[in-house]
Amino acid sequence: MRRKLTNGHAFVALGANLPSDLGNPEDTLRRAMAALIPLSKHLPVISGIYESEPKDCPPGSPLYLNAVVALLPLAGEEPLSFLHKLQHIENVYGRIRTGLVNEARTLDLDLLAFGDAVSNTTELTIPHPRAHERRFVLQPWMEIAGADWLLAGRTLAQWLMDCQDPPLGRLPD
Ligand code: AMP
Repeated sequence: MRRKLTNGHAFVALGANLPSDLGNPEDTLRRAMAALIPLSKHLPVISGIYESEPKDCPPGSPLYLNAVVALLPLAGEEPLSFLHKLQHIENVYGRIRTGLVNEARTLDLDLLAFGDAVSNTTELTIPHPRAHERRFVLQPWMEIAGADWLLAGRTLAQWLMDCQDPPLGRLPD
């Protein structure tokens, strides 16, 4: 039976559009999903992998693969300590920050939400400030959390209905 998601769950968006040492972006995403398992009390709930056109990216950027994972953070975990663990996984998978906005990347992990926590610092803004306007986040998030899941006062289905991004392809499971 599908695990019921609660308002204690954290949600992580994964994205990749460059090959890494581990293989192609799909291999990297699947390995990164496995790397998230120790950060969760229960087996994480994972979405399918979606293919999206690069959005607000430098010209010529390759297609992105995206997914969303729900985890139940370990006892004592704080939003910032959790973000640092995500950044460690990004670094292990070869992420090199050049400072270019939305540069191509072997792996990008964004913290969409951490339970009901709210943070508005440069280091950590949650709920993620752009999640609601990105189909590549909304669609996989809705797949695992359901159409009625609330984000910033509206359901994921409502945000998706207003989203202008082109439809996404979904890779076979
Ligand atoms: P990016 O290069 O797009 O992965 O952005 C990473 C930067 O955004 C890091 O400096 C993070 O500290 C910061 N950041 C702020 N809020 C978040 C969030 N919700 N998830 C991930 N990174 C965040």
